[in-house]
Amino acid sequence: MIQPRLLTRRLFQQASPLQSLSNHAGRPIRTSILRSQARRSYAASGEKGPRPIPGQSPFKIWPFLAIILAGSGSYMLLVKSRTDMAAAAQASKSSGQIAAPKKDTPTFSSDKVTVVFVLGGPGAGKGTQCANLVRDYNFTHLSAGDLLRAEQDRPGSEFGQLIKDYIKDGAIVPMEVTVQLLENAMTETLSKTKDGKGRFLIDGFPRKLDQAVKFEESVCKAKFVLFYDCPEDVMEKRLLKRGETSGRTDDNAESIKKRFKTFVETSMPVVDTYDKEGKVVKVVANKSPEDVYAETKKKIEGRI
Ligand code: ADP
Ligand code: AMP
Repeated sequence: MIQPRLLTRRLFQQASPLQSLSNHAGRPIRTSILRSQARRSYAASGEKGPRPIPGQSPFKIWPFLAIILAGSGSYMLLVKSRTDMAAAAQASKSSGQIAAPKKDTPTFSSDKVTVVFVLGGPGAGKGTQCANLVRDYNFTHLSAGDLLRAEQDRPGSEFGQLIKDYIKDGAIVPMEVTVQLLENAMTETLSKTKDGKGRFLIDGFPRKLDQAVKFEESVCKAKFVLFYDCPEDVMEKRLLKRGETSGRTDDNAESIKKRFKTFVETSMPVVDTYDKEGKVVKVVANKSPEDVYAETKKKIEGRI
């Protein structure tokens, strides 16, 4: 006869993480596995089922079952949160749509955390000006593009190929991936502070309205949007020049064209929406880097 305590240990040893996800019909099967494995265990030992130990109450097994069920439930939730993100990204790639995970309150309070979105066309000079602002205003610079490229190159990333394809095409990477990368980076930065306070320049984000809504709902409210306005022909020249040394897969004529199209059709509506709310600080970016910075400083002084 197998003692309940032994049985509990055996079940935990036998159930693999994959088994806890779904059965062939895609339904959660952890508990059914437990039940069927329990049956197998008893069958193997020639038992029909657990018999109460003489002198002990048969109800003693319930605490163990409760622990197994509670443990299985938490484990399933943990694994599910990771697989949901991957599934959402895959679904989005094929359908262009994504179901946003639910989260109603922002992780970071705007009392403690200042977020400034930095937008502008590809090559408008966002990264260049962010470097100046970091130097002078104690901001942390988080570039959505840099975070995506780092994730793309991270060994073992489940999103590597997906990100690569989107970037080469100048397309918007599914927001679940981008928003999560930003939140992780913010969490890491803030964990190193004593008071949990911080200032972030979030560069190249939000590039689509759904990202803006999702980020402000679930991560942090933005203080304002710094928008670098630059004509396409100027940006194109800068990007082609940068492409001579950047090693980027999207700094070439074909990808640049697609990036401009994405910017006009998808990202400009974000700027327009924030503009209607009076949250856009617009800076003319078709000047020398020094002049662009001088205008930037002048325009943001009263706002940060
Ligand atoms: P973004 O981050 O908006 O894509 P970058 O800051 O990387 O743009 O700038 C794109 C390229 O243009 C870089 O090679 C950069 O050195 C150059 N650049 C940036 N700002 C200016 C400017 N005001 N005038 C000329 N070149 C610039
Ligand atoms: P950047 O480094 O800002 O020029 O961005 C390079 C590429 O990364 C873009 O063309 C997109 O494919 C991807 N990307 C950058 N930012 C975002 C974002 N906020 N949302 C989705 N994709 C992004």
